[in-house]
Amino acid sequence: MQILFLGAPGAGKGTQCKMLARHLDLLHLSSGDLLREAVKLGTAAGVAAKSFMDKGVLVPDSILIDMFREKLHTPECQKGFILDGFPRNVAQAKALNELFEELNRKLSVVVNLQVDQKLLTERICGRRICSNKECNAPYHVKFAPPKEENVCSLCGAPLTHRSDDREELVAARLKTYFEQTEPLIEFYDKQLLLRTVDGEGDPDEIFADLLRTLKVLA
Ligand code: AMP
Repeated sequence: MQILFLGAPGAGKGTQCKMLARHLDLLHLSSGDLLREAVKLGTAAGVAAKSFMDKGVLVPDSILIDMFREKLHTPECQKGFILDGFPRNVAQAKALNELFEELNRKLSVVVNLQVDQKLLTERICGRRICSNKECNAPYHVKFAPPKEENVCSLCGAPLTHRSDDREELVAARLKTYFEQTEPLIEFYDKQLLLRTVDGEGDPDEIFADLLRTLKVLA
């Protein structure tokens, strides 16, 4: 299966994608995580991407398209994958269609995780993530706090706060989403691939709803 997730920053894509990847044994490919890793490693793509990420705007399409072309051709993607954060505009979506043709694969379904705009800022600013890359568990200071403040309840590693999850940048990121990414909802709806899932409420209930929508409860 090849699944694509759409949704604003803070809609809960990361959390649901991780749960679904585990459930279906698919590879979870988050463009944001791949970019942050590239920045940390100081690769050419990371160096080029950093100034855009620091402003909360989109990194140039060619960087993302090259990154995903390389990734999707690796053997670990053979079993199927979940795309989270790519594509982020119509040009990237068209490039992805071409990539699927190269790979002789098809998108199985596109999930749009729907959350009221008013909730997004609070969700983003309170987000914390386990710093242990193997664990990567998501938390929220209000909605899903760890047992001990700033410590992962699963593995004991410290939690981190993404530098672009601060209030100053959130407005820019949401503006970028509504201007450039939201049109993809119509783009994929026209291709009859779109399923909308309500992203508000308890993550386990949202996940159950997601499985019902995808009809993969087994
Ligand atoms: P995310 O973790 O998905 O919120 O992404 C963090 C940042 O990475 C975004 O604010 C963008 O600057 C950049 N980014 C992630 N995915 C893409 C993409 N598909 N196209 C362009 N920039 C991206």
